[in-house]
Order: sequence, then C-alpha cells, then structure tokens
Amino acid sequence: MKVCPTCQAGVKRTEKICPYCNASLKSWKRRMYWGMGFVILLLLIAPIFIHVYMDKVTSSTKQIDQMIMGLEQDNYAMFAEAVGAPLELEEQAQQHVLDYMKNQSLTEFKKRTTRITARAKRDNKNTYVHHEDGSAVLDVHVSKYNVFYNKVEVKLREPVLHWVASHE
Ligand SMILES: [Zn+2]
Repeated sequence: MKVCPTCQAGVKRTEKICPYCNASLKSWKRRMYWGMGFVILLLLIAPIFIHVYMDKVTSSTKQIDQMIMGLEQDNYAMFAEAVGAPLELEEQAQQHVLDYMKNQSLTEFKKRTTRITARAKRDNKNTYVHHEDGSAVLDVHVSKYNVFYNKVEVKLREPVLHWVASHE
C-alpha cells in the first residue's frame, strides 16, 4: 500500500492513477533524480572522450605511422605525403631519399620521432628529429590547435633533399 499524495487514500502499490481522485501517482521526483544523475554522469565522462579525441587529432601519430610504412614498403609517394616532401622528384632521387632514411634502425627512428614530437607538443616548442647519423632530418612544428591543445606536425627538412641532390 501507498498513500495518494492528493487525497490521502490508501491505494495499491502498482496503481499509476489514484482510483479515488484520478491524480497521477507516478513519482516525478524519482524520475527527475534519475535524469539529473544521468546528466551528471555525462558531464563527468564527456571530457575524457573529448580529451582522447583531441589528443588523437592533434598528435602526429598518423603521420609517423605513414612515414615509417612508406619507408618499410619503399613507397616514396606514401612517405612523401606523410612528411610533406616534394612528390615530383625523379625516380632515382626518390630512391636516394628512401635509402638514406632507411639507413638506420626504423624502430628506433619511430620511437625517437614519437618521443620528440610528444615532448614538443607538450612544451609548445619547435624542434628536430635526427637521423641515426646525427643530421636533423625532420622539422617538428608545433602550432595552436585551439585554446587547450597544441598540434604537432613533422616535415622532411630541405637539407635532406639538397644532400640527396648533391649525391646523385
Ligand atoms: Zn487520490
């Protein structure tokens, strides 16, 4: 049994409408609490998803993956697209670039690039990634993505292409 809040009559627990006065017996309070709980939960969880998403779009992970894959597959177009290198390069020069970039441990190069770009993004500071031979081969460029996030991108440095050109 429960008590109808309108006419104080005792009614069955399962009644949704009071059989005596026709007042609705549904608890709007309970529904409101559920609704508020849901909204609060959403407000707590949303920032996590937003952060994960923003972190993904502002990091250079995709670029780095494509760069390494291009090198591994000897695919100059894929590599060049990833690091903003000129696509209209003679075939021999393309191979020179690939050979030069591959003349190091790619696993280490990938790790190094990932580490350096993450730090650059965090510190909002442009820097370089070096080849195993000590020359700076990638420009790491940080820019503002929005108020809260920096975006980081890598680009093949001009000197690499000059170096390749001079060794042809
Ligand atoms: Zn009633």
